[in-house]
Amino acid sequence: MSLAVTADALRTLHRLHRQLADLRDQLAAGPRRIAARTQQLRAAEAGHAAALDGIKKAKLAADQKQLQLRSAEAKILDLEGKLNACKTNREYQTLRDQIAADRMATKVLEDEILEGLERVDAVKKELPPAESAIAAARKLLAETKAEVDGETARLEAESVRVGRDLAAAEAELPADSRELYQRTVKSKGADGMAAVDGTSCGGCFQQLTGNMLAELAMGRVVHCRGCGCLLYLPR
Ligand SMILES: [Zn+2]
Repeated sequence: MSLAVTADALRTLHRLHRQLADLRDQLAAGPRRIAARTQQLRAAEAGHAAALDGIKKAKLAADQKQLQLRSAEAKILDLEGKLNACKTNREYQTLRDQIAADRMATKVLEDEILEGLERVDAVKKELPPAESAIAAARKLLAETKAEVDGETARLEAESVRVGRDLAAAEAELPADSRELYQRTVKSKGADGMAAVDGTSCGGCFQQLTGNMLAELAMGRVVHCRGCGCLLYLPR
């Protein structure tokens, strides 16, 4: 076994581990994109439901005012019917005043009913945009799902390929460094290896000792005392 094998092997392994980690990140991004689009659709649906509710409430309010108007009008008719039965002028005048006051009240109600109907028309205008927002959100969600499905298939195939390369590269590791490598990768994954950067660890930038650099130059496996990375010399 040549001394350069370890550095070359670690360099390759580090690259493959980073590729795998990157592929896993990209795979994980797919469901997050779908979740975000689903969230947008839910928000659009909530907006639509709120618009429907607004229409319902506005109609109900206008209907109630109309009922009040009808009962007020019935009351006025009733009072008018009683005018002839008045026995004194004073009684007659009191009744006339009451009827006049009630008529004023019905005018106010009529205005309120008009306003209520205008309000119904206004809230009805909120419905078409809310429906369009749902349709747009549905379309985006479907497009994102299709994109993610395609991407996932590609990324999974790529992961299988890199995984095979990784297994092949691991098989080439010198037997005496394999255990340390496996232990480090198990706990730190792709971050378990770092290239030496000048005279520092490329992972945590801790200064390496002269002794460590000498061992690295001899092709030994050295791990950083700062971050625990397996170190290798850059090409
Ligand atoms: Zn380090």
